[in-house]
This record gives sequence, C-alpha cells and structure tokens, in this order.
Amino acid sequence: MQLNLNPVEPAIEATRHFLASNQKKMLLNNDWVDAQHRAVIETLDPATGKLLATIPQGSNEDVDAAVASGRHAFESGVWRHMLPAERAKILWRIGELVDENIDELAELETLDQGKPLGVARWAEIPGVAEQFRYFAGMCSKLESSVIPTSIGYQPAGKRIHAYTLSEPVGLVAAITPWNSPLILTAMKLAPALCVGCSVVLKPAEDTSLTALRLGELCIEAGLPAGVLNIVTGYGSVVGQRLAEHAGVDKISFTGSTLTGRKILDAAKGNLKRVTLELGGKSPMIVMDDADLELAIPGIANAAFFNGGQVCVAGTRLYVHESIAKSLYAGVAEYAQSLSLGHGLDPATQMGPLVNRIQADKVYGYIQSGLADGAQLLTGGQQGGPNHTFIQPTVLTQCDHNMKIVKEEVFGPVLSCMTFTSKEQALALANDSDYGLAASVWTQNLSHAHRFASDLESGTVWINSHLMYDASLPIGGYKQSGWGRESGMGAVLNYMETKTVCAVL
Ligand code: NAD
Repeated sequence: MQLNLNPVEPAIEATRHFLASNQKKMLLNNDWVDAQHRAVIETLDPATGKLLATIPQGSNEDVDAAVASGRHAFESGVWRHMLPAERAKILWRIGELVDENIDELAELETLDQGKPLGVARWAEIPGVAEQFRYFAGMCSKLESSVIPTSIGYQPAGKRIHAYTLSEPVGLVAAITPWNSPLILTAMKLAPALCVGCSVVLKPAEDTSLTALRLGELCIEAGLPAGVLNIVTGYGSVVGQRLAEHAGVDKISFTGSTLTGRKILDAAKGNLKRVTLELGGKSPMIVMDDADLELAIPGIANAAFFNGGQVCVAGTRLYVHESIAKSLYAGVAEYAQSLSLGHGLDPATQMGPLVNRIQADKVYGYIQSGLADGAQLLTGGQQGGPNHTFIQPTVLTQCDHNMKIVKEEVFGPVLSCMTFTSKEQALALANDSDYGLAASVWTQNLSHAHRFASDLESGTVWINSHLMYDASLPIGGYKQSGWGRESGMGAVLNYMETKTVCAVL
C-alpha cells in the first residue's frame, strides 16, 4: 500500500500552542479542571500512533459535579431568561470565533481524527460556524401559539384564553462520536443553547480535542459559567452515568445503534427525553439513464469520503445491470486514484481510520464479504505504521443477504449489486434495519421523485449524496434513530410545550 507519511507538522502556531500544553483539562463551571481521580486517557494521532495529548478520564464524581454545575446555571435563569437577542449575540459570536480560528480547529481535527485537512477545513469546521449562526437567528423567533378552543362548560359570562409556552427542557447531556467530532457536537450545542438549555457535553474518547478548544471559544464569546460543561472520558463510565443521571433532563446522542439501545435502557429511570442519531447502511440506486459523469465521482465520494466513517456514507450500490460494467470500472478507477496518507499532507485525499480497533473491524468485514463470495474489484489491504489505513475497497457480486451488505462497516468499503427493474431496486434498498439516507441517480424526474417518496429513509438525495446544510433536517427512519437534527425543527428536541388555559 502506498502512503504519504512524510513528517508534517501543524502549520498554524495556535495549533502548536494548544498542543504544547499537552495535559488537557475539562470544563466545569467555566474553570478548566483535571479529573477528580487524576486519571487520564492518551489521545493519539491515528496515522502515526504518536501521542498528541492526554485528556482527563472522567469518573462518576466528575459527572456529578458537571451535572450540579449545569443544573445550577439552568435554575438560576442566567441563560434561559437572558433576552433572546442577547443569547443570539453570544451564539453568533461563537460562530465568528470558530471562523476566526478555523485553521487551528481544522488542524486539530485532522491530527486527532485522521481526516484530510481539506475535509476539516472546507467542509466540517465551516459547518460548525454555520450551525451557531443558523440557531443564533432562531433565538428571537421561538414563538408559541394562542389557541382557539371549543370548551363550553366555563362559568356563564366567562371566556377562555388558551395559549402555549415553549420552554427549554432543562439540562441536556450531549454525547458524540469520533467520526466528525466538532460538527456533530455543534449540531447539538447550537439548538440546545438557542432555546436556553444548559449542557454537559461528553465527546468521544478518541477525539475530544476540538470540543475542548470549542469550550474555550464559548467562554471567550461570553457564555455564562455552568451553561456548558465538558466531561471527557469513556462512554461506559461518563456516558453511562449521564444517561442514568436523575439530574439530566434530556440525552442527545449520536453514535452506534448498539450504544443507542444502552442509552435508552439507562435513561428510563427518570424517563428523560432522548433523541438518537444512530447508524446507517445507505443505499444508492443507479438507473440505466443515470448521467455517469455525475454518478461515478458522486458514488465514489459517497463511499470513501472521510474514509467511509460517515453515518450516511453510501455503502450499498444497486445498479441497473445494463450499466454495471462501466459504472464499476469508473468507481474502481476513482478509488485507485485516491492518495492515502497523513491528513496534514496536502496531497492526501484519504486518511487513516480513527484507530487500530476500527481498522481491524473494517478489514474483518472485507474478509467476511470475500468468504461469502463477493469479488474484490479493488482495494482490500490494511497497512500503515499504526495499521490504521484501509484501501478504498470495491466488492462486486455481493448478495443482498451477506453480512457485509447487512451491517454497518464504517470504513471505505462499497458493496455492489445489480437489479433489473425499479421495483426490485426499491425493495432491496428498503430491506434494511437502517433508514438514515439514500440516493437515486437518474435523469428521469418522475422516477427520481417516486423513489424519494417510496424510500424508507430520513434523507433522499437525487443525483448527489452527502449534501448537508444547517437548514436541512437529518435523522433516521427505523433503527437509524429518533428525531432530527439541523433545520428549524431541531429546537423542538430541546423544548417542552406548556399549555396555559385561563378563564377570564
Ligand atoms: P459509539 O456508539 O461507540 O460511541 C458514541 C459515543 O457514545 C462516544 O462518546 C462513546 O464514548 C459513548 N458511549 C459508549 N458507550 C456508552 C454508554 N454505554 N452510555 C453512554 N455513552 C456511551 O459510536 P462511535 O463508534 O463513536 O461512532 C460511530 C457510530 O456513530 C456509527 O454507528 C455511526 O453511524 C454513528 N453516527 C451516526 C450519526 C447520525 O447522525 N445518525 C452521525 C455520526 C455517526
């Protein structure tokens, strides 16, 4: 496997400065603190295995302190009763500070997660700023309703005046995964803070650095003490305690379907509100009239962007049998053209997977596909000094019932199958436990919109895949989750509706 692993140092002085103090602390009531038990977790550069920094390994006691801080901030009203226009200014300022520090944040994300710098710098970190600006605009637009009623039993001569109040749900625990750490964090923080909630954030243990830097920017923007607390550490300890905690009103979780189920179990004690953004196994349907100049790079990008570590990655390809040969050849050529290496190297188009465990898991899936009878068209190798690189891999002659087609792989692996009719394509695409995203590639408008209507999927892209915006709701049907993030409706994840009915 050819890799660009020339030593590359961060170009930005601020990145070097952030990493120079390499024993990072976590955020409690606007103070930076160690874990109470002083334990730490090493955070490594996934491409090289080099130590970047240590982060505190939070314990139950750290969670309890963060929950107390968040509850105090919520109950004091310092944030939820702030004038909406003032809250908006602080959220907008966070967005501006993200932009002002974009090069540093992008380098940190690349070093910590492995993704190519271009992905962090031009796709993900700009999206972080956009989330804060989008929800800053909503702070002053959270209206409620006056409701006409048909109650007829009020005392004679009296009238009914009924209305709703939309109120913040309380203290939110936000738990995030490692694949796109900061943008997935912003998708929770921005709407939760917009409506006046306080937050305890638990970033993924492999990729906490940009969340900690964002914490610094939130303080600089003027977020009052205790409104955002960050506890780093393992999911089985910090995440589990947050999910169980009676002081937490709401869990906003992004991660695997397996962990989502554990969170549901843990959350039942106080029946806390839960939204879940979970796994996916997104189908891509290519009709015989598809524009292949658009489809080939679009499909390859959908499968290999961020090394396939994308919840909505296109992983199941259903192609009309009449064009399968040329489509496969084009996608394989694209895969072979990708240059793999350290994310900070400007030549790199695909980085490593986040850690050895994930790379071994993906390699195991490729082996299972081959053992089940799939054919390796390109890729298939694991390598690199830390064994974290997996070549972009295309498997043809897959069968819909193979494990590699059924389960989420979360790596750069595309499983290809053919169909002969659009009814068959739809049935195969929908035959999945997941329902996060799908795409259809055709020049026939009628087919495109019929598929969009009939696919059991939270998002359907037409002649594209992976188009995101702060304004577009994202979330899953079936076992891909509960609720939607982004878009105007995302604030509802963090609000309760109170009905007020008065006899006047
Ligand atoms: P994961 O479920 O292993 O971990 C996610 C987070 O949950 C981490 O912070 C982890 O520490 C924490 N956690 C682990 N065990 C926990 C527990 N028992 N209680 C509470 N928290 C716990 O997921 P991952 O491997 O970090 O991320 C990959 C998964 O995330 C994939 O399945 C992917 O599809 C999914 N994902 C979904 C979306 C979406 O929007 N639907 C977006 C990105 C990733």
